[in-house]
Amino acid sequence: MKRTWLKGIALTICLGMAVSFGIACGANGTGANNGHESNSNTETCTHVFTDYQSNGDATCTANGTKTAVCDNGCGAEDTVTDAGSMLQHSFENGVCIGCGEVEYTDGLQFTLDSKKQTYSVTGYTGTDEEVYLPSTYEGLSVTEIGNDAFWGKAITKVVIREGVWRVGKNAFGSCKQLKSITIPSSVTAFLDNAFIYCEALKEVHISDLAAWCQTYSVGNKYANPLSMGHNLYLNGELITELTIPEGVGYIGQCAFENCLSLTKVVIPSGVSSIDWGAFINCSNLQSVTIADDGENLMIGDYAFGSCHALTRIILPGRVWGVENSAFNNCKNLSVFCESESEPSGWTWAWEISGIPVYWYSENEPKHNSEGTDYWLSLKHWRYDEKGEIYVWVFGQQYNPAQ
Ligand SMILES: [Zn+2]
Ligand SMILES: [Zn+2]
Repeated sequence: MKRTWLKGIALTICLGMAVSFGIACGANGTGANNGHESNSNTETCTHVFTDYQSNGDATCTANGTKTAVCDNGCGAEDTVTDAGSMLQHSFENGVCIGCGEVEYTDGLQFTLDSKKQTYSVTGYTGTDEEVYLPSTYEGLSVTEIGNDAFWGKAITKVVIREGVWRVGKNAFGSCKQLKSITIPSSVTAFLDNAFIYCEALKEVHISDLAAWCQTYSVGNKYANPLSMGHNLYLNGELITELTIPEGVGYIGQCAFENCLSLTKVVIPSGVSSIDWGAFINCSNLQSVTIADDGENLMIGDYAFGSCHALTRIILPGRVWGVENSAFNNCKNLSVFCESESEPSGWTWAWEISGIPVYWYSENEPKHNSEGTDYWLSLKHWRYDEKGEIYVWVFGQQYNPAQ
């Protein structure tokens, strides 16, 4: 019985995908002229969408959409993101011929690295409040933003372009009017205090969620722009319900630190590590779902620290390691482990803040084989017939809404 509920969900998702991707769906999907002619049939038709056409609405900085009409002739349409359709800027004489953005703002200072192969942006003497950084300068790649590069500047918006991989110490520190920053997929590291004192920062814009998940921020609270900006936008849309994309193997240190826009996170089977502080201080996060099957998963120190809105989390059997204080200060949380006892890879201090922890027991707990009472002193749960959490200790159904 144990995993019936989750398997049920997985099956539902598979069926949903089978339909939207047009995989054969039985007797209803056999042809275009089988009685699905009028729009009034859309409610009974088992739609099959296979032939997606671009809507031509991709821009320099965001993917466009594509639309298919149901193969069964019912007239229903399905519009989805056209992955990979984002155009690239095409600069001529310093201006993009696609969108009109400037290639880079006057007054940026560039420093050639010691090997004379790449440039860093190391200062700004311009007057524009909106600052655009280039991918290349004098024929070489721009790969870093130097320490203190924009410290204390009166800027409101910064757009970093593809190629930059590191944002240096204090790089945007004390930019007290900075409201919006755009981070490209190439950035992998934010160093100490890169956004300290950015009190007006409200928007962090990205176009590649998988890349963002695997960023690394030095864990001092002000390295990641989200630690000050709180709101993460993917192609212009605020992320509230986050499904970590397939292909992401780990969620980097402090990657979603202080992301107050997040209410829901789904972690798929391919993720094997949730690093230090990955979701620390996500205080509006109400729901975390970790896929039941998949890679062995390590949950790092403070990974969900101070997620006050979280009331329950199920840790599947694939969680082979939990590091110190992974759920520190989660005042309203109960942890339900699918393991029957604490796995040896969990540190002794994985949970020391006294939140309720339940271990799995298909049968009502009795004295263990040694006849000691230790087993009975623990809390236990199981999945009931409906796949809901059933708590043994109180002999009652657990009600997460209580
Ligand atoms: Zn249809
Ligand atoms: Zn453009």
